Amino acid sequence: MSLSPLPNQRAPAAPAPYLSVVLPCYNESQVIPETLRRVSTVCADLGKPYEIVVVNDGSQDSTWAVLLQMAKADPHLVAVNLSRNHGHQLALSAGLYFTRGDRVLIMDADLQDPPELLSDMLRKMDEGVDVVYAQRRRRPGDAPVKRFFCAVFYRLLDRLADTRIPLDTGDFRLISRRVCDQVVAMPERHRFIRGMVSWVGYRQEAILYDRDARFAGETKYPLRKLVALAMDGIISSSLKPLAFATVIGSLAACLGFLLLLYALGSWLFVGKTPQGWASLLITVVLMGGLQLVVLGVMGEYLGRIHEQTRGRPAFLVDAVVRAEASPLPGA
Ligand code: UDP
Ligand code: MG
Repeated sequence: MSLSPLPNQRAPAAPAPYLSVVLPCYNESQVIPETLRRVSTVCADLGKPYEIVVVNDGSQDSTWAVLLQMAKADPHLVAVNLSRNHGHQLALSAGLYFTRGDRVLIMDADLQDPPELLSDMLRKMDEGVDVVYAQRRRRPGDAPVKRFFCAVFYRLLDRLADTRIPLDTGDFRLISRRVCDQVVAMPERHRFIRGMVSWVGYRQEAILYDRDARFAGETKYPLRKLVALAMDGIISSSLKPLAFATVIGSLAACLGFLLLLYALGSWLFVGKTPQGWASLLITVVLMGGLQLVVLGVMGEYLGRIHEQTRGRPAFLVDAVVRAEASPLPGA
């Protein structure tokens, strides 16, 4: 099983560019012209061939129309339209699939990640680093509640994950072709790209930056999506929640056993059994709750196994548009 549904759409046979930039977009029509302007400037300054793969993740606004127009005029652009909204991580996966560059820069489309960091990242990669990830020193551009939630999540993930996933680091990073190929080759449907990249290994180093505010528009990550991403992150990186379920279950069983001893002891030595429906109810509710939590944890893993065994493609592509002159004029 492979990640992609449509291998034949991948890329025309052509020499690989030096750099690919991947930009997943969901309702970003207000932002995307400015983002492409800034990214193109940074890439053009390199003086080497590059491509910018922009993925429209089923936007309801005019993002695709804007992209189409720009892709027809700019031979560096590859515009990919997904069949519907698949979510950030799958849109990003689709983008990675279509890249051809020796080095791949992953960033958000809203300019919270400054593309100007690229030259520092490339320099680090020249030293033999395979993954240069941008770690947030500060993130004044995000709401305090979100900052708190994210800080807790990254620390929890650090405790749980089997491989080290850097703290306070999103998907903004430069990866080498071999890392990109490995991530694309992983067939999992619930994709947590930063965890998958960490899993690949090789030399991975950080550069620090301050995260800006969004250039325009609203966040596309409401709490519900953040929680789903956090669940995918933990479950795809760790089996420890299952072990915790066993521990909680064992503790609950011990507690039940102690209560039994207490009841038997009172009957044998005091001559009466503990009375009252309140203690009974509390025990039943507590045990019932614990069982449901443990079942829920197992269900999260089971649901993902179910989705994986169904074997549906992770994403579907509607169209890939490149300008006629493409591929790859020099910068
Ligand atoms: N995004 C996407 N599909 C979605 C949600 C988000 O492609 O379903 C893109 C979005 O356009 C942006 C990136 O993912 O380029 C990160 O989203 P956003 O900036 O809204 O998240 P935040 O920075 O607020 O966490
Ligand atoms: Mg953002």
